[in-house]
This record gives sequence, C-alpha cells and structure tokens, in this order.
Amino acid sequence: MIRLVAGNWKMNGSLAANRVLLDRLEAAPGVEIAVCVPYPYLAQLQQRPAGLALGAQDVSEFAAGAYTGEVSASMLAEFGCRYVIVGHSERRALFGEGNLAVGRKAHAALAAGVVPIVCVGETLAERDAGQAMEVVGRQLAAVLEVLGAAAMSSVVLAYEPVWAIGSGRSADVGQIAEVHGGIRAWLAAHGVDAESVRTLYGGSVKPGNAHEIFMAANVDGGLIGGASLEAGDFMAICRAA
Ligand code: PGA
Repeated sequence: MIRLVAGNWKMNGSLAANRVLLDRLEAAPGVEIAVCVPYPYLAQLQQRPAGLALGAQDVSEFAAGAYTGEVSASMLAEFGCRYVIVGHSERRALFGEGNLAVGRKAHAALAAGVVPIVCVGETLAERDAGQAMEVVGRQLAAVLEVLGAAAMSSVVLAYEPVWAIGSGRSADVGQIAEVHGGIRAWLAAHGVDAESVRTLYGGSVKPGNAHEIFMAANVDGGLIGGASLEAGDFMAICRAA
C-alpha cells in the first residue's frame, strides 16, 4: 500500500508564512503527502502544489446545528479535505476528548467521505508500567465499538506515543515495530481487514530518523508535527518514505 506522510501544522502559521511554506512543497514519487492545517487556512489551501492532499486537525462529532464553535465533517469535505486528524493526544489531554468521542468523530468524518487519521498512544507512565499495548487496545476498542469492523478498515491510524510528541525523542525502531505489529494483530483479532489499515508513526520524526522508522515492519508512513513547518525537513521526510 502507498505510504502516507501527513504534516500536522497544529496551531501554527499565518497567511504569509503558509504561502512561503507551500511554495516549497511538491509531490514526491511513490508517497502520498498531506498537510493538516488550522480551519481558517482551508480556504488558502484551495491553491496548493499539485498532488498535495488537504486535511484538518479536528472535526465535530455532530452533523449540523446549534453547536457553537464546532466545524462539521461535511464542511471539511466541501473544502476538499481528504483527511482529518481525530483524537490527537493534545486534544485528549488538553481538551478532554475521551475514547468514545474520538470514535464518534471518526464516524462523522467517514459519513462525510473524509478519512479520519485516528491517533492512539500511551503516556510515559503507561509505557513504564508495561501497559503500552493495553492502552492502545482500549483506544482502538472504543473506535471499533462506534464504527464496526467494516468501517474500521477505512480509517488511517497513527501510533503516537505521547512522550515522543514534540520531545525530540522518538520511539526507537524496536518499540515502534512492536506496537505497530501489535495494532495489526489487534485489528485482525477483532475482525478488521488489518492489511488495509494504514498505520502511521508520529512523534519527533525528523529527516535523520525518518528512513529507518518508515522501514520498520507495519509502518505505513508518518504523522509529522514540528518538522512539517519547515519545507526542507518535511520534503526530506516525504522522500524518505
Ligand atoms: P512532532 O509531533 O513531530 O512535533 O513530535 C507529532 C504530532 O503531534 O503529530
């Protein structure tokens, strides 16, 4: 399956800075590239380099109505979003998103034809307690409960150990391969077509470590935070896939 490298700009950018960054991005052979941008920039991103897919960073679980401040999946679809990140650990930790809400957001995205990039991952305390896969399994189970096994085959997953995000310290290849293998086995054991689910790794991916991470077993691409804001670094990571 074709690898996906998705940039997560988080709450960064400006109209001027985005233009400078976009002018330096381009398609790379054999890899799908996406940028997940703050909502107001979806309009600006209507003009972007050919072959660059568009995504958002969150979506409402609701379809429409009196939900002040929310943005629906159909609005994202109207702006050409192919992807939306759901359940990023920053949203879970800072904005109180629970496992079931993440599942409902993934469901809303799929219903509008937008592919959710569902983030899962353990904290350092959970890893130290030997609970990494148990935590990831719980996060997956809640999404599966909402989506069902057939729809679960259409999501993209991102394994992002919380301690590796923005820390400069990525998980090592052995840790990544172990959890990615665990995720694929978990999906298969729960009736999901595991081979069709692209599973990205995220957390301090840089040009210097991208190739060995992407070569690890069951890693189908990356979710890139900090390094996606620098065009040279992001393109180097995309080419490493
Ligand atoms: P990072 O962020 O690459 O800056 O560690 C990854 C993410 O949060 O998706």
